[in-house]
Amino acid sequence: MEKAYAVPNLVTPNKPVIFDDNVCNGCDTCVEVCMSDVLMPNPEKGKPPIILYPDECFYGGCCVKECPLHDKGAIRLNWPLMQRVRWKRKETGEHFRVGMLNPPPPNTRPPA
Ligand code: SF4
Ligand code: SF4
Repeated sequence: MEKAYAVPNLVTPNKPVIFDDNVCNGCDTCVEVCMSDVLMPNPEKGKPPIILYPDECFYGGCCVKECPLHDKGAIRLNWPLMQRVRWKRKETGEHFRVGMLNPPPPNTRPPA
C-alpha cells in the first residue's frame, strides 16, 4: 500500500487560528468549512486540527463562525498585526473590530 504524507508549507511563522486544547473536542467542523484547506484533522482523536498551510488563510473566519464551541473559545482568529484595526467606544471603553459579532451600529454622524 502506498503512503500519503502531509507536509507543512511553512513560509510564515504566523498561526492564522488559535485553538484552546481544553475546549476543542476535535469535531473537525472547521476543517470541513475551510475553503483553503488550511487545516487538517488531527490523527489523535479529540485533539484540535493541525494547521498545515498557514499562509493559505485569508482570514474570512468561516472556521470560527461554524465551530459549535467558538463562543466557549475553542478557536479564535489570530489576525496579522497590520490587520488588527479596531476602535473604541469612549463612553464605555468597549473595543470593536471589523467583522466581529454584534458590532456597534454604523456611524450616521454627518461629515464635518
Ligand atoms: S475548533 Fe471547533 S470546529 Fe474545530 S475541531 Fe475544535 S470544536 Fe470542532
Ligand atoms: S479563516 Fe478561513 S481560510 Fe483561514 S483557516 Fe479559517 S476558514 Fe480557513
